[in-house]
Amino acid sequence: MRLEKVVGHRGAALRAPENTLAGFREAAALGCRMVEFDVRLSRDGVPVVFHDDRLKRVTGAEGAVGETPLADLKALDAGSHFSPAYKGEAIPSLAEALALLAELGLGFDLELKADPGREYPLAEAAAALLERRWPGSLPPPLVTSFEPLALAALKARAPALARGYLVEVLPREWRSEVERLGAVAVICNQRLLSREALRAVKSAGYPLLVYTVNHVERARSLVADGVDAIISDMPDAILAAL
Ligand code: MG
Repeated sequence: MRLEKVVGHRGAALRAPENTLAGFREAAALGCRMVEFDVRLSRDGVPVVFHDDRLKRVTGAEGAVGETPLADLKALDAGSHFSPAYKGEAIPSLAEALALLAELGLGFDLELKADPGREYPLAEAAAALLERRWPGSLPPPLVTSFEPLALAALKARAPALARGYLVEVLPREWRSEVERLGAVAVICNQRLLSREALRAVKSAGYPLLVYTVNHVERARSLVADGVDAIISDMPDAILAAL
């Protein structure tokens, strides 16, 4: 894993449509060196870059990503909800995203979003693509998930890939979970992050990333307190402030 101080959330979600190739290009143009994005499986088992389980908010279409084949997902417009300027921007496959990220030299935090029961197929599909399409000369990725089953599947399938323990609030048993899953970083919701949790993670020696920080003063104070990376929808503003 190579960590940057500022990570563009879903690309740069306040600057360009989230989880799109245009968003990754914009993040890079804004000076970002690392982005976060979400990956889930289409009905036919292809990993695609998309946050919600339902298509509605981003594309206006009915249905769920996991119940829709890739060919139908590719016909949807994932750009117009952000701005008419992005009309026709497609949902990227993970393969397409990796090709662009490699071209841009962007590091990334890939979040696995598994439908229940598909944790292993998702981890398998993502790991296979990373092995084939992400050469060792590029910044090593971080793979995260709220779902312990997905991280455990990834650990079994591709133990060398760096895993991040992603939570809303640090649970009491966090340390044993991090060890069990072989995670090398912890990612918490900044709104719910206590000073005790921050100190516990840092004193245990794990890099700590927080999401989603869109206020520059908050970003400065978190970094001053020892947070290693800020995940933001407006990474340019946070970069400028730090
Ligand atoms: Mg995410």
